[in-house]
Amino acid sequence: MDFSLTEAQKMLRGMVCDFALKELGPVAARLDEEARYPAEAMKKMGELGLMGLGFPEAYGGTGGGTIEQDIVIEEVSRVCAAAGVIYLVSCQVSGGIINALGTPEQKQRFLTPIARGEWIGAFSLTEAGAGSDATSLQTAATRRNGGYVINGTKMFSTNGAEAGVVVVFATIDRKLRHRGIIPLVVEKGTPGLSVDRVERKMGMRASSTAELHFEDCFVPEANRLGEEGQGIRPALEALDASRTGVAAQAVGIAQGAFDKALVYAKERRQFGQPIINFQALQWLLADMATHIEAARLLTYRAAWLHDRGLPFVKEASMAKVYAAETAGFVTTRAVQIHGGYGYTKDYPVERYFRDAKVTEIYEGTSEMQRLTIAKCLMREG
Ligand SMILES: Cc1cc2nc3c(=O)[nH]c(=O)nc-3n(C[C@H](O)[C@H](O)[C@H](O)COP(=O)(O)OP(=O)(O)OC[C@H]3O[C@@H](n4cnc5c(N)ncnc54)[C@H](O)[C@@H]3O)c2cc1C
Repeated sequence: MDFSLTEAQKMLRGMVCDFALKELGPVAARLDEEARYPAEAMKKMGELGLMGLGFPEAYGGTGGGTIEQDIVIEEVSRVCAAAGVIYLVSCQVSGGIINALGTPEQKQRFLTPIARGEWIGAFSLTEAGAGSDATSLQTAATRRNGGYVINGTKMFSTNGAEAGVVVVFATIDRKLRHRGIIPLVVEKGTPGLSVDRVERKMGMRASSTAELHFEDCFVPEANRLGEEGQGIRPALEALDASRTGVAAQAVGIAQGAFDKALVYAKERRQFGQPIINFQALQWLLADMATHIEAARLLTYRAAWLHDRGLPFVKEASMAKVYAAETAGFVTTRAVQIHGGYGYTKDYPVERYFRDAKVTEIYEGTSEMQRLTIAKCLMREG
């Protein structure tokens, strides 16, 4: 049993940590306040080769796998969770599906620009009436002239406003339920694709969450990932790895909030001494650190299993549900340790507190993760 990162992974962690502190640290609060996309930082992540992690060299890849992607997500989210989710959805979700299901030509066309950081990817599954029950989606893909005409409206597409490419899920026949659903790649500027609205959110405010409208939007058959008749399952399986990414993001948010709380507890004085001298706060910090460490172990174990081609679905759901709830637990206490100042925008813990919540919701809610874990347990037992 070896719990240590390789030398290359340690170097990657150090490099991303430096990058995040230098490029995102000074601007994270302003990006959040103005709900502004961190264009400069994302461009630099591309230049550093971080967008290519986990992809084959032939398509702009720079080595590594899920562990390396998760290291990036954790370290970036420790400073700016919104930048973490932009990377996660572009590389691990959108790029991940294209890498898993795409033909060599499709990977050349769509994955290479994502891996080089030239395009940001988005992923459009959710609809107003189809959230946890994604297979009830209504967006239609009607066969016409060697391709598909897409009609429908998608909710909550992360990166939807900036994306060079969107993987959108539509049905060729609603009666076929999950077997009728196909993923189609739609490039920015395709006639019939429009960004109808960008959500005003509680957290992750520097990341756009867009409502995308498809009206008679034609894409050629060459833009379909996988075969008709395969249904949605292969695409959803390709998504499983990104649960470790959301877990890594939650670990990063929790660690970032903990770091701030520890510094504050040492500096803030009440009753003539630093507040960290009070055992009540020592116990809070001890519990916070313990939860973070447990969440991190679950997260990287799930990623490690995935990188070795071993079963990891139960472990990825366990990591996501535990890490997301840890982010909630830790950020609430980080605000508490800051007292009234933690409730103001003068300190960053209120941002971590707001950003943490959605890790329990997107990429499958905590309730849906528990259902997955239970299904796996029932199969095992
Ligand atoms: C900031 C943000 C970014 C997002 N990014 C994307 C994206 O890039 N692409 C995309 O496609 N989607 C995205 N989503 C959508 C997200 O994945 C969904 O919001 C999520 O899957 C839940 O769907 P819902 O909101 O419709 O909630 P619902 O499915 O309506 O759930 C409501 C509540 O009921 C519970 N519930 C539902 N069914 C069950 C059940 N069977 N058993 C127990 N409890 C149940 C849920 O857990 C939840 O608590 C994003 C959402 C947000 C907020």
